[in-house]
Amino acid sequence: MPVALVTGASKGIGAACARALAADGFDVAVGYASDAEGAAATAAAVEALGRRASVHAADVADEEQAGAMVAAAEEALGPLDAVVLNAGITRDGLAVRMSADDWTAVIDTNLSGAFYTARPALRGMLRRRAGSIVAVSSVVGITGNAGQVNYAAAKAGMIGMVRALAREAGPRGVRVNAVAPGYITTDMTAGLSDEQRTGLLAQTPLGRLGEPDDVAAAVAFLCSGDAAFVTGAVLSVDGGLAMS
Ligand code: NAP
Repeated sequence: MPVALVTGASKGIGAACARALAADGFDVAVGYASDAEGAAATAAAVEALGRRASVHAADVADEEQAGAMVAAAEEALGPLDAVVLNAGITRDGLAVRMSADDWTAVIDTNLSGAFYTARPALRGMLRRRAGSIVAVSSVVGITGNAGQVNYAAAKAGMIGMVRALAREAGPRGVRVNAVAPGYITTDMTAGLSDEQRTGLLAQTPLGRLGEPDDVAAAVAFLCSGDAAFVTGAVLSVDGGLAMS
């Protein structure tokens, strides 16, 4: 059975990716930072779909912990066929007032954390000449967003990382892609004001916010054989928001 590792899978988009991949036949390693209960619930959902699951606590911003998570996932379930780089945080604020800590925390977790997870997984994939890596970027990495200079920089950085890795890994049969979700209903966006929500809906041709399953379907596609000729792509899953 194919094996996938999904970081940030204790809730939200990551949990939906774990379920979608399990439904597609993957055994799933569930990465998380602190929400052990959420991670266990995701693992139970994977097992309810008839697949094996393992659970791994790691701060992806710490290179050693990220590497240990990849090794533990492979030890538990076998060589990784797919990795979803989904763990992420926000620390919003206007650029002129943003602390260096808020800048660094978001870059370290969202961008460096993705790299620290991708690299050890990639080594095995390159040896086996097969595998798919999907980074969860954001519409904000494409359009920018006032109040999110750290997050926009990290998410744009992920797109650059994906394209560089796709060029390095493509000749050895490993595909690397990104999804760029718009505003998705999760804990991360729970704090949006009614005014912000109304403004976003007005700019979204499909007229609704997204659901985690909307993003998970795109991630599952990119991890599947149906995407065998897709690499270096950035797939927007945003109801058309990035066009506005
Ligand atoms: P969420 O509900 O807040 O979940 C975030 C996940 O990331 C949790 O599982 C969390 O683990 C994990 N995480 C956070 N810091 C971590 C760290 N240092 N090490 C390991 N795991 C860590 O967020 P979400 O909305 O599902 O977002 C998932 C991804 O999609 C993020 O990369 C986000 O930037 C991106 N995204 C979200 C939206 C949106 O509108 N929601 C839009 C575009 C892109 P614990 O629960 O254990 O702390």
